[in-house]
Amino acid sequence: MQLKETKPIRSKHKWTPEELEYLSNHYGLVSDKTIARNLNRSVYGVAWAVYRLGLRRKDNLYTAAELARTLGVEPETVIGWVRRGWLKCRKGPLKAGLNRVWGFSEKTVVKFLRQRPWVVNPKSMPEHYFCSVVKREWERDPWYTCQQAAPLLGVKADCTVEDYIHRGWLPADKKPHGSHGAWIIRLSAIQAFLASDPRPLSSHYMNSAARRRFLLETERASMLAVTWVIKCPSCQQRVRVTAPPRLRGVAVRERFIRLYVNGNCEHGSYCLIPTRTPK
Ligand SMILES: [Zn+2]
Repeated sequence: MQLKETKPIRSKHKWTPEELEYLSNHYGLVSDKTIARNLNRSVYGVAWAVYRLGLRRKDNLYTAAELARTLGVEPETVIGWVRRGWLKCRKGPLKAGLNRVWGFSEKTVVKFLRQRPWVVNPKSMPEHYFCSVVKREWERDPWYTCQQAAPLLGVKADCTVEDYIHRGWLPADKKPHGSHGAWIIRLSAIQAFLASDPRPLSSHYMNSAARRRFLLETERASMLAVTWVIKCPSCQQRVRVTAPPRLRGVAVRERFIRLYVNGNCEHGSYCLIPTRTPK
């Protein structure tokens, strides 16, 4: 079945202010054909209105230099993003001499900033809509360097965090920085990591102040371990026992005796009941 070409409905109508606004906001960003289709007008009608308004295609596009200025970075940085395939550009309708100039539409820049907001520093950005996009992204899902992520993961060294990344436990992005680049980790990745912690249980981390703070901040206080004081039935010593929050006192006592007492008292003054206790 073939649709018959018909004359666009609005060809004979006067341009409304809304149509003119749509045209000036989209000219150069999408093809003239698309604009014509969306307005239900002919391409000639669009060209006529463009001429009357004195629109230029590049008015709605950022050049690499303009974008760099708006984002507070060097133009080479913008070009680096394009080469990495992070930022889409169009060698669109613009020409400078024989070369086509790179143009960036606001839509693609916003999409790029939502995906990799850490490429820019809001503090060195001039006041602009792009700056608010980055700030909103920070509020939604902040990002950290390995050094900043280490305390959130309850470890001391940032190389431990890098180790988690290399093992594939912790998703991260690499930011161009120096000769090796720098890892960037989103909070959501850290939360997912902790929710199904792939590390072998370590009493050091489970009891660290960092983990406690992290769970409280992320409103998961129910995951905090509880510390009990239990009197050892064998040596009468008072022992601090840290146990998973779901265990009741009787269960904690029973496990404590099974794991640490057994007649030879291996408990010391402090011990830990692991989440998964061997039967
Ligand atoms: Zn004892």
